[in-house]
Amino acid sequence: MKALIDKLASENILTRDELVMFIENRDPDLDSYLFERAVAVRRRIYGNDIYIRGLIEFTNYCKNDCLYCGIRRSNKSAARYRLTDEDILTCCKTGYELGFRTFVLQGGDDAYYNDERICAMIRAIKTWYPDCALTLSIGEKSYESCRAYFNAGADRYLLRHETADDIHYKKLHPDEMLLSARKQCLYDLKAIGFQVGCGFMVGSPFQTAVHLAEDLLFIKDFEPEMVGIGPFIPHHDTPFAREPAGTLEMTLFMLALIRLLLPGVLLPSTTALGTIDPAGRELGILAGANVIMPNLSPPEVREKYLLYDNKSCQGEEAAEGLEDLKKTMEEIGCEIVIDRGDYIDGS
Ligand code: SAH
Repeated sequence: MKALIDKLASENILTRDELVMFIENRDPDLDSYLFERAVAVRRRIYGNDIYIRGLIEFTNYCKNDCLYCGIRRSNKSAARYRLTDEDILTCCKTGYELGFRTFVLQGGDDAYYNDERICAMIRAIKTWYPDCALTLSIGEKSYESCRAYFNAGADRYLLRHETADDIHYKKLHPDEMLLSARKQCLYDLKAIGFQVGCGFMVGSPFQTAVHLAEDLLFIKDFEPEMVGIGPFIPHHDTPFAREPAGTLEMTLFMLALIRLLLPGVLLPSTTALGTIDPAGRELGILAGANVIMPNLSPPEVREKYLLYDNKSCQGEEAAEGLEDLKKTMEEIGCEIVIDRGDYIDGS
């Protein structure tokens, strides 16, 4: 196993069989060795710098019905909200003053925000904050829509592929959603010129070691600038309410593998990781992550953007908790920087 870690660290790739074997037989005693190797790569490329992104959850209306997600359209108990342009610009102002130089607009797939509205929003944010990067995370869109967002000034796009296995994808999504369509959107985004992020949940229902290996190989092949992963956490009003959550250990293991597969990738230590363990965010950084995305949504809507139960939005998870987050990062030898935090090619 140790030899596999060394091979991965020096060649940045393993075969499918090696990955499956490594995941199936994960040896907790080797975790600290694996994490050290991953952190060494992060440090070589990014030094001690940790980038922050201000996450603005601007709508929880969604036309999709993903079985794992708390804001799926079938969840009639969800209290729905939309932010106005003015609300969103106020979030950016607060964020800019706190030191954020990247804003992430995330939402359900909400038809109210048609291309015209999204493009107007992008232009407004880029006019007021030209030195900031703008990331969209608004689901699958057509090539033309993505092109319009890019032309309006959006820089980056996050669209988790969720799982790289067709059959597994079908078990997590309703019939009308297709992995091929999601992947096509990722390829379109890349062709258009976005910095692109994909990713998956760790421990989602029906997931096997083979699926995880396929996820890693897909990511390696796709070469995204960013990868978002976090543990699956059940939401009480979804069909997966009684499914077990993904674990801290497996998520940290995956973060480290991704750092070694794609040395320069921007890798967030996500809210879901901070939700399943109070020290999750720090541990993610200590396994190779280099990005944190505090919540910059208006406090009164935060608990409505409930993708999963107990979703953390207080303390260091919140943009206002940035001072505490800075201290926590300093304690583990890292530093939060005021920077757009663009991708650095680590090869
Ligand atoms: N509508 C956008 C944004 C989705 S929310 C889109 O389709 O891309 C962002 C991510 O939250 C999803 O991609 C999914 O991976 C994650 N997520 C949703 N429900 C979750 C759950 N129950 N546990 C953990 N992560 C979840």
